[in-house]
Amino acid sequence: MTQWRKEHPQATWAEIEAAVDERINQLRAQLIQDVVQMGETQQWSEMPQEERPRCATCGKPLAARGKQTRFIQTTGGEAVKVTRIYGTCPQCGGGFFPAFMSS
Ligand SMILES: [Zn+2]
Repeated sequence: MTQWRKEHPQATWAEIEAAVDERINQLRAQLIQDVVQMGETQQWSEMPQEERPRCATCGKPLAARGKQTRFIQTTGGEAVKVTRIYGTCPQCGGGFFPAFMSS
């Protein structure tokens, strides 16, 4: 913020608030991303079957099908990049990107 203040010596209270909010939202998104990715280091193949993500339709453990990246919007308006293992169901053929919204 020091640099921003130097570049905006005449900033109004509202402008300062907006600039601080923007940085907080960016920091928030970064923290969310870090926390989310912490849980993504373990390979499904190393997990016991009962702990693997399950099919939302029939409940069978999903088979890993590589990784996919999605962008999830935070409430602060920033997009968080999430790379997760994408799975398909061996039973019904459904494809799933295990999300947090559904759990
Ligand atoms: Zn299924």
